[in-house]
Amino acid sequence: MELKVYNTKSRTKETFAPMVEGRIGMYVCGVTVYDMSHIGHARCYVAFDVIFRYLRHLGYEVNYVRNFTDVDDKIIKRANELGVPTRELAERNIVEYHADMDALRCLRPSGEPRVTDHIPDIVALVQRIIDNGHGYVADDGSVYFSIDTYPQYLELSGRNIEDMVAGASDRVETDTNKRNPLDFVLWKPSKEGEPSWDSPWSAGRPGWHIECSAMSARHLGDAFDIHGGGKDLVFPHHENEIAQSKAASGDEFARYWLHNGFVNIDQEKMSKSLDNFFTIREVLKLYHPEAVRAFLLATHYRSPINYSTRNLEEATGRIEYMYQTLATLDEAIAQGGNEGDNLHPETETVRQQIVTAMSDDFNAAAAIGHIFELLRAANDWTRKKRKLVGRITTLRAIREVVTEAASLFGILERSPQEALDEIRDRDVIRLGLDVAWVEARLAARTAARQEKDFTLADVIRTELAAKQVAVMDNPQGTTWGVIRAAVE
Ligand SMILES: [Zn+2]
Repeated sequence: MELKVYNTKSRTKETFAPMVEGRIGMYVCGVTVYDMSHIGHARCYVAFDVIFRYLRHLGYEVNYVRNFTDVDDKIIKRANELGVPTRELAERNIVEYHADMDALRCLRPSGEPRVTDHIPDIVALVQRIIDNGHGYVADDGSVYFSIDTYPQYLELSGRNIEDMVAGASDRVETDTNKRNPLDFVLWKPSKEGEPSWDSPWSAGRPGWHIECSAMSARHLGDAFDIHGGGKDLVFPHHENEIAQSKAASGDEFARYWLHNGFVNIDQEKMSKSLDNFFTIREVLKLYHPEAVRAFLLATHYRSPINYSTRNLEEATGRIEYMYQTLATLDEAIAQGGNEGDNLHPETETVRQQIVTAMSDDFNAAAAIGHIFELLRAANDWTRKKRKLVGRITTLRAIREVVTEAASLFGILERSPQEALDEIRDRDVIRLGLDVAWVEARLAARTAARQEKDFTLADVIRTELAAKQVAVMDNPQGTTWGVIRAAVE
């Protein structure tokens, strides 16, 4: 089956074909490590994690490179506020970022280059841009990219250059070094106390955009297959990357441009600058990582997604339902019984439906919907069709397809009981439940039932329900969980 990929550059879905058969180079812009990462970052890196997983599933050898910006104005400012060296602050936040990504079950990329390890590459790249006539050195030792020498500028966003120049000229320009207000900095001299590296132009540090051109070239070559990032990076960051890389090498740079949509909160983009963000760390205290993934993948990666308690609660309900079903399924399989043929031919169809959905511009939401449907069927098979010949074979076939498909999305990889316990641990924190109190009330209810005082048992049940605690009586005893809205 052909893989169709929406390319921001052509504004169409294109049939994907890598430069080298069987191999893919993919670069995704990483985080600036001055603080903890937020849910907007999680959206981007979960989206590309799923793309990475699917490309590998298709049999490609994927070289996935995601950088760390470990020197920039924000890092310098924050390090000064905290009174620590920039390197130490960056190192600390890289550790935290990895902890968040691991908790979110994002696979580590093949390479995670850091800017400060690539200064010689950056200096050489800036020099090539100057040598090719696309860069100029200002009196203070800054180096700029000259957009007037590069007529293809803005080819990714399709913005109109005259409008952009006019808009930029209207603003009060503080940088008087620039020949054109849209020119952007490649190298800037460092101020006293800032990190600084030698260069032919000044003791300084790289501008932001140049790092991705240098690191992608170093790790993937001058031309490679996929470049990704958030939609907010299309302009100026990715336009500038394209201009720099093509001006330096003359090669085609990235061929497919993939951009994920924002996470919105109250109809506004979640971001540090708007101060309306939730860190990954704080969200994972309240919601299971797989619920967070399910929430982030419930909308196509290019569309905006709404951050809300309700959406996260619903995603939690879906993951819980899927794990509960798997627990029942595994138990039924373990019990054994009639073998025979697979009585649910849709099992194979679902495998195909998932490939079809994912091959249509990575439609994870539709694919996960198919897994969900298969688990619904599993519930029918475990509950209603107990004695049929072929039941165990059917359940095993379903389990196999679910396990394989779920691994594309980084969900349902835990043992069901462990995952259900982890979900409940978060419920307890979120609802502020006193577990000792819940268990004491359950014991009182069990005692009441043993004494046939069903009125008291019902009163206790109602009392627990008021705290959103559901009581489940089953042959093994009484258990409890959280009352949720019905899973659709
Ligand atoms: Zn970048």
